[in-house]
Amino acid sequence: MDYQQVLNEIYSEITPFVGKGKVADYIPALARVDANQFAMAVVTIDGKVFSVGDSATPFSIQSISKALTFTMAFAKHGDRVWERVGKEPSGNAFNSLIQLEYEQGIPRNPFINAGALVISDLILSLYDNPLESLRGFARELSANSTIDYNAEVALSEMEHGNRNAALAYFMRSFGNVTHNVDQVLNFYFHQCSLEMTAIDLARSFLFLANHGVIPNTGRRVLTQSQAKRTSALMLTTGLYNESGEFAFRVGIPAKSGVGGGIVGVIPQLLAVAAWSPALNKYGNSTAAFEALERFTTKTGVSVF
Ligand code: GLN
Repeated sequence: MDYQQVLNEIYSEITPFVGKGKVADYIPALARVDANQFAMAVVTIDGKVFSVGDSATPFSIQSISKALTFTMAFAKHGDRVWERVGKEPSGNAFNSLIQLEYEQGIPRNPFINAGALVISDLILSLYDNPLESLRGFARELSANSTIDYNAEVALSEMEHGNRNAALAYFMRSFGNVTHNVDQVLNFYFHQCSLEMTAIDLARSFLFLANHGVIPNTGRRVLTQSQAKRTSALMLTTGLYNESGEFAFRVGIPAKSGVGGGIVGVIPQLLAVAAWSPALNKYGNSTAAFEALERFTTKTGVSVF
């Protein structure tokens, strides 16, 4: 399969979608990002890299980090994570408070904000140096030792994070957040501020396409069963309340973030990332969504 040819075609067709929607202006540091950027990258399990557009530009991975922190928690804590968080789609916006009250502070899944905050709380218990461990993990997965947090983005979210604070305090009242809320938010906003290029991002998710083993190094991160479950969760919940539409149109497990990135995996084959900052009403990148739909349509590869 000539993936470069497919990416070139997508790149030539995607212009009408780039800049459509609006950047995540509820995070002031992200409001300044130029909406007219687009990148796409494919990394295969056997290490081949294909890319187009602004694929050397790092961007804020935001909620995509939820798949990384969930992996860190699942790897160490196993099935006990399900005592704290569910595995069903929420059908609500990523930052919604609504289900938490009648479901006693147990978030529907780890990929909405409430679920990710619980996972952050768990990581604070499981790791001695949580921020260092996460950064190290992101560097290991991406094979890029320059991956880092963006302190300005983290601070900007901290200063405008009332909604996430409300979620965390509310869950603390049910005992499902155990640390001091500021500590949890500080970890959570830093994880969201991690920056990667489209190539870094695609490479970072290859372990899920490879039954839980990082192809580069051979290190097993998750058991085969855990990798299957994590990918299944991405398929059903990775794009919040647009996960059904994404599965319908694109047909692969994926995770999005309000930085405009979406990364997906095709088991046994590759990981593919697309990035463009302007978001649709669900907080998912309009152009990245469109590009990924074209990718699975043109190549005929998906999980279905
Ligand atoms: N940091 C963002 C928030 O908490 C992440 C949301 C997202 O990417 N969907 O609102």
